[in-house]
Amino acid sequence: MDYQSLLSKIEVYERKYNVLVIGESLFGRKIFAVERNVDTNLATAIFVASVHARENITTDLLCKYLDDGVFDAVKDFNISFILMANPDGVELSKNGIDSVPFQMREFLIDLNLGSFDFSLWKANGRGVDINNNFDARFKTNIGSLSPAPSGFAGETAESEPETRCLLDYVLSKNVFFTVSYHTKGEEIYFNFFQNGKDLERDSIIAEKFSKSTGYVIKNPEQVSSGGFKDFLVQKLHIPSLTIEVGSDELVHPIGEKYLDTIYERNKNIANDLEFAYNTFVRFKEK
Ligand SMILES: [Zn+2]
Repeated sequence: MDYQSLLSKIEVYERKYNVLVIGESLFGRKIFAVERNVDTNLATAIFVASVHARENITTDLLCKYLDDGVFDAVKDFNISFILMANPDGVELSKNGIDSVPFQMREFLIDLNLGSFDFSLWKANGRGVDINNNFDARFKTNIGSLSPAPSGFAGETAESEPETRCLLDYVLSKNVFFTVSYHTKGEEIYFNFFQNGKDLERDSIIAEKFSKSTGYVIKNPEQVSSGGFKDFLVQKLHIPSLTIEVGSDELVHPIGEKYLDTIYERNKNIANDLEFAYNTFVRFKEK
């Protein structure tokens, strides 16, 4: 969904949940966290969607979780939903160059090799890939050396407002687990140079999610750097998953008509989250 549709959803969620504006994108769009708080003293799980612009079906997935009340029975922990982490990118992918401030248009069309079709865009509003911009082995896997539709990590770690927004929010909470949704391939990533008990704990959690969804665990710790999950795992020692939803046979951007089939694979999410919480607690007590 695009940013305007998100704003309509937010109006509804404000009646039921604690909705916070946790930051602003480069072009001044709001980044929201919808909080399902049981008790502010309890630990929090965080879901993040639409870090990559074209993968905005993941915003629809989180909204469906909220709309269907899949977490209504959860009472041991809080859950926060960052529904659209990269609203400028999503707008560019969904609604094209008219969504961008006039002075940025020529620059972005150049980055897009002259094309006005931005549907495959992943980066933010100035061609930085948010999922390479975190301070976790920053730029050790270089995709692009300069601003681009995807894979440019930025000049420095945490240079982007969207990155800092996620970071500040995570650091403001007592977080025990995060899931960052992307597309596609039906895969789960959990590794990022953790070891010992962290590795054991995180493997157990990833395996549970893999069993529930049928998604395959991938182990490419050498192919990512600067990701949200990477930072959480390496710097904060918090178990975190990147989940790539949507069959690999689908083409980017995955359309809303595939939401139900994606949702179907993830319908045990409340159980999985409770498992993640119990595993986190068990290892903390070890
Ligand atoms: Zn992605």
